[in-house]
Amino acid sequence: MSADLALAYRLLEQHFGFSSFRPGQERLVTAGMSGRDVLGVLPTGGGKSLCYQVPALALPGLTLVLSPLISLMEDQTKRALAAGIPAAFLTSGLSRGERRRVLREAVNGSVKLLFAAPERLETAGFIDALRGTRVSLVAVDEAHCISEWGHDFRPSYRRIGLLRERLRAPFMALTATATPKVREDIIAVLGLVDPVRVVGSFDRPNLAWHIARAEDHGSKVRVLRRMVREERGAVVVYAGTRRVVEVIRADLAGLGVAATAYHAGLEPGPRSRVQDDFLSGRSRVVVATNAFGMGVDKSDVRLVIHYQLPGTLESYYQEAGRAGRDGAPARCVALHGRHDHRLHQAFIDRSRPSVRVLKRTRRAVHRAVRGGARGLLDVERAARDARCTGEEFLGVLEALERLGSVRIYGGSGPAGSDWPLSGNREPRSSSERSRDGEFLDVGVRSSSPDWSGPRRLREAALDSLRAVRTYAEARRCRRAVLLGYFGDEAQTCGGCDLCDAKSLRGRDESS
Ligand code: ADP
Ligand code: MG
Repeated sequence: MSADLALAYRLLEQHFGFSSFRPGQERLVTAGMSGRDVLGVLPTGGGKSLCYQVPALALPGLTLVLSPLISLMEDQTKRALAAGIPAAFLTSGLSRGERRRVLREAVNGSVKLLFAAPERLETAGFIDALRGTRVSLVAVDEAHCISEWGHDFRPSYRRIGLLRERLRAPFMALTATATPKVREDIIAVLGLVDPVRVVGSFDRPNLAWHIARAEDHGSKVRVLRRMVREERGAVVVYAGTRRVVEVIRADLAGLGVAATAYHAGLEPGPRSRVQDDFLSGRSRVVVATNAFGMGVDKSDVRLVIHYQLPGTLESYYQEAGRAGRDGAPARCVALHGRHDHRLHQAFIDRSRPSVRVLKRTRRAVHRAVRGGARGLLDVERAARDARCTGEEFLGVLEALERLGSVRIYGGSGPAGSDWPLSGNREPRSSSERSRDGEFLDVGVRSSSPDWSGPRRLREAALDSLRAVRTYAEARRCRRAVLLGYFGDEAQTCGGCDLCDAKSLRGRDESS
């Protein structure tokens, strides 16, 4: 056993009380200790935090962890402190004095593990302070956020590439969800040099994957009733919106099936009651939005049914994967109708409009302000001119505003005459705007914006949606399609509707 590996095991035992690494962890930890760049892909719950925590203990200098969410950083800091690792986080929630203290402790070595958001990299003095100390490792958690091809792109993650140029420390990129394309993008944007790649398996052999065809709400609810009745264990039914969750719960009740509803619109009291009842087994069936599951650690869910597939396979895999955490057989079923994708398509059209629509809308704004730089825009007329509804028009207008091509004045911010220099204005939702009246005070830039960003983002969203349809309409092993999407080699199937049907047919023929 190498000295690094022996040390890694000793730290694992001493600080975490674990006697063995999970699949992939050992290689990631030793690679992180060796000074090489690393790309690690392990499933959710696979134990990625440990992969930088152990090196943070072993290495002489500071380990910096870049993470997307304040809540994640606080939670990780707590867990690291509990394992006896001197850790701290730097967030905008701290006072200036506190931030200065944390940075001082990171620089003088009394903090070994420092969590920060990528936005931190822009604040004056942060990188300079780091350059004044020894940084042994930079870990990028949730590294798929760096890729426009990922399902959770965050522009601030792109700036990590700049840090890479200014700090001579090895990088460890970690994520649970990275298609081969996203993996290459992570390596390219971070500039990883000949990284050690560790890709854990995504296969969960105890889960069976099913699609059940059902075209409309009525037939979906009937299928739900049958499945829920046939199952004796705990069931989670996922639906896309609060309203649909409530409708399903009521319709199931009408058919004599008791279920509780869970979504972010519930008051904290009822919400934790629903959780507790489900955890204790007092209620067997929960109908929920994807808000359910984050902190709900129930290992014996036997059946997860999606009323409709989400817009990405990453989300589907994550939500469905809450079944069978105990390793015993469990099923993941998605109800699928021929036209189900339309809702997602409409969502993409609104949130990621095509360049053609963006250009057409920009031209309509131009015409409305009569070629000037600023003027009053009649929303209904301009929308007609751009060939869309008022609601759609406002959505596209906001996309143009994000691109810096259009500015919408008014609202609570200063009606700045300094535009385009300042973007200091409270963002207002399109619904708020349309309630305000039919006229908008808008400014428009004469130069044409760079369309490549919005083009790529739309393509990425459409790609993700296509993969969902490919999964739903697969004709060979469904598990192989799902795992193949995550870059995992096809495995022997432990159960899916397509393989089950094939083996049933085979049995019929031989009998
Ligand atoms: P991820 O970030 O990959 O989703 P976490 O780092 O949050 O996963 O770890 C998930 C859980 O697995 C944690 O409760 C952690 O303590 C546990 N864990 C990690 N490594 C091991 C191990 N080698 N043995 C046992 N449990 C582990
Ligand atoms: Mg994690």
